[in-house]
Amino acid sequence: MMIKINPRFRFFTLDTGRLPQETYDVMDAVRKRYGINLEVMFPDTDEVEEMVRKKGLNLFYESVENRRLCCGIRKVHPINRMLGTLDGWITGLRQDQTETRRDAKIFEVDTQHSNILKINPLVDWTWDRLWGYIRANDVPYNKLLDAGYPSIGCAPCTRAVEAGQDARSGRWWWEHDTHKECGLHMDYKK
Ligand code: SF4
Repeated sequence: MMIKINPRFRFFTLDTGRLPQETYDVMDAVRKRYGINLEVMFPDTDEVEEMVRKKGLNLFYESVENRRLCCGIRKVHPINRMLGTLDGWITGLRQDQTETRRDAKIFEVDTQHSNILKINPLVDWTWDRLWGYIRANDVPYNKLLDAGYPSIGCAPCTRAVEAGQDARSGRWWWEHDTHKECGLHMDYKK
């Protein structure tokens, strides 16, 4: 959609260093298909090394505090670095992804990021409408979606869900908080 509107848009994503291979595959498929220069933001090496030295590689399973630390270093700090250079950003966030996103709107002031503009053009799209668009336009998608992963994050923190289960229940499944967010869109978490 964005390529059709303006091919000069910039496209960015995050590589936490712990993503599944299928996510790298779809990143490359999108680059090739649309001929875009995908800007991939990585975590700060010193921050990751210090965290792993002190807490180990699988720290996130040990406590919510450790999980938030890891998400902070691998996701939140890199995106903050990018958003700190921008006046606004456009996301694929949708209200029906999770309870915490029910109040998301198309146009928002991103209070989490220096009040820049945040635009969520798909905010009221349902799962079915999304898949209708993907199929009609042959959009590359993450193959884990075919394997029962409706919400995909880092490999060690994501698992498949049963049909009918909440889409986000496969994320950080060992935690009991039903309002789970990694910190990228914390403005909706009450
Ligand atoms: S999802 Fe898991 S591995 Fe990825 S940044 Fe968060 S805690 Fe770390």
